[in-house]
Amino acid sequence: MYRPVNHGYIEVVVGPMYSGKSEELIRRLKRAKIAKQNIVVFKPHIDDRYSKKDVVSHSGDSIEAIPIKEASSIYDLIDEDVQVVGIDEVQFFDEEIVDIAVDLANKGIRVIAAGLDMDFKGEPFGPTPRLLAVAEFVDKIQAICSACGQPATRSQRLIDGKPARYDDPIIQVGAVESYEARCRKCHVVK
Ligand code: ADP
Ligand code: ZN
Repeated sequence: MYRPVNHGYIEVVVGPMYSGKSEELIRRLKRAKIAKQNIVVFKPHIDDRYSKKDVVSHSGDSIEAIPIKEASSIYDLIDEDVQVVGIDEVQFFDEEIVDIAVDLANKGIRVIAAGLDMDFKGEPFGPTPRLLAVAEFVDKIQAICSACGQPATRSQRLIDGKPARYDDPIIQVGAVESYEARCRKCHVVK
């Protein structure tokens, strides 16, 4: 994949859960490290799925990351000499993340963001749609549909094993919530 070398730009990797977004983000960041570039990785503070400090993929790869609560904290945590900024779970950041990504790219930094393009309802998720619009490079990747084995583009939310309803609350006390990758045909929102 050819990338410009004399100015900054934005790359976005999107897809449903299990599509390999974190894997791809980690792969790109590790290659930048091999090229001896100065990298910093951020993730939203809320996501502490496997490790509080690292970006960890479902297959077990990881890279060190800084959990932050607000997008604007990025400015406090990068040095003058940073060349690559990685952002995981970008959908959970506030809208300001888009302006910050643009500003960093304008300053010559390579920004690589990964996140969900759609929520469990199949609707555009948080700041991701705007980020996709202003990015130079976009990769929309698929998982495997847990129901039929075809490429999966959506995240199925299950509550106690059954498809979640459109307006089910974000947190349901006492219920077991899970997610799986599904294709358009097998994705159910009641
Ligand atoms: P994401 O960040 O998109 O949620 P990860 O990079 O964390 O994805 O994990 C991708 C890995 O998840 C795959 O390489 C594979 O090992 C595993 N995996 C588990 N379930 C699925 C699925 N339904 N489709 C594809 N990969 C899956
Ligand atoms: Zn399917």
